[in-house]
Amino acid sequence: MRHFDFNAGEMHAEGVPLRQIAEEVGTPVYVYSTATLERHYKVFADSFKDVPALVAYSVKANSNIAVLATLAKLGCGADVVSGGELSRALMAGIPADKIVFSGVGKTPDEMRLALDAGIRVFNVESRPELETLNQTAADMGKIANIAFRVNPNVTAGGHDKISTGKAENKFGVAWKDTEKAFALAASLPAIKVVGVDVHIGSQIDDLAPFKATIQKVSGLVTRLRASGHDIQSFDIGGGLGIPYGDNRKAPPLPSVYGAMVKDLTRDLGVEMIFEPGRMIAGNAGVLLSKVIYAKEGADRNFLIIDAAMNDLLRPALYDAYHDMEPVKAPGSDFEETLYDVVGPICETGDTFTKNRSLPAMKADDLLVIHSAGAYGASQASQYNTRPLIPEVLVNGDEYQIIRERPTVEDILKTEKIPHWLR
Ligand SMILES: *Cc1c(COP(=O)(O)O)cnc(C)c1O
Repeated sequence: MRHFDFNAGEMHAEGVPLRQIAEEVGTPVYVYSTATLERHYKVFADSFKDVPALVAYSVKANSNIAVLATLAKLGCGADVVSGGELSRALMAGIPADKIVFSGVGKTPDEMRLALDAGIRVFNVESRPELETLNQTAADMGKIANIAFRVNPNVTAGGHDKISTGKAENKFGVAWKDTEKAFALAASLPAIKVVGVDVHIGSQIDDLAPFKATIQKVSGLVTRLRASGHDIQSFDIGGGLGIPYGDNRKAPPLPSVYGAMVKDLTRDLGVEMIFEPGRMIAGNAGVLLSKVIYAKEGADRNFLIIDAAMNDLLRPALYDAYHDMEPVKAPGSDFEETLYDVVGPICETGDTFTKNRSLPAMKADDLLVIHSAGAYGASQASQYNTRPLIPEVLVNGDEYQIIRERPTVEDILKTEKIPHWLR
């Protein structure tokens, strides 16, 4: 069951009419559902409740601290990729020992922040990074727990731009160098090897690449142990796809994914770590926007809405499909119209969809863009000096603004005209 549904002819988020949020907060606005976030976390975590496992939500999918606090309350950990995300996770109440730190370019400052907090593990992606971490930890009189992120050279992911596990990608230690890298790590005084890590891509709609990866990495775990490394954890990353409402094949259910992972890792004697992002947040949020103009072009109809590519980049960046509906349920006599739904930004790429069949809409009508809870607000920019749009969290019959809309004045305050121009 999804928690964005029509009730008495109007789309609601749980018990709150979206029209009410549009009127009180303004549009465009991101609206998230607590019940959906909770359900997605529980469905995922439940499929691993009988084995040692940590679910470390990938903060970059939706990094609002209210979203993180909602998940923290359920026992969720975090996968962070920057010092900023680490600060968010800690602020939201996620315990440091449930935080893993990923990313190819961790700086010494970020390492210090994480060592100070006492995070569970650094997912290290290269030898130079390992050496910097060793030096940083040694200077602080600390030991850094590490797993190497290995690159299994597996093809996966819904789009070239979100494939990360191929040899040509920038991520992870090259497969042929992994054992040398672990040997080096074991020789460094401020480093403790605790695990292995992979993340092969995102919006993966098939179990096969996960299966191939687990088999490959399991073999590596066995070889590493034989060489004396104490491998306690196996982080399989994130990447499980979600339905976006188009007619592509449905991604595997978390329970099916869970059964497969458990089956393949049962005898390995490791704690499994998961870094789901999209699977938790994607369908827990919508982008609520308003039609500014319905415009008839030379050979097509445009719906120009007040949301744009700076608010939701996925269609422009990944050619992503998002389901759309009017907030007001169409009557039985509604007229289907083919629209290009576009934003106001001066870029042809500012197009959410082309030739989409929707009930006829006019200026001031409200439009919902579904499945916008992951990689929506977290990728937003202020391009065209459009202030970041607010985020709202619904919980049953109530809602709260969890990020305010900045004013243009707020944006301009951070900029300066140099003295020689004054
Ligand atoms: C982005 C990312 C994830 C989350 O990916 P999803 O497809 O949102 O599940 C997990 N781990 C790492 C290292 C990532 O970069």
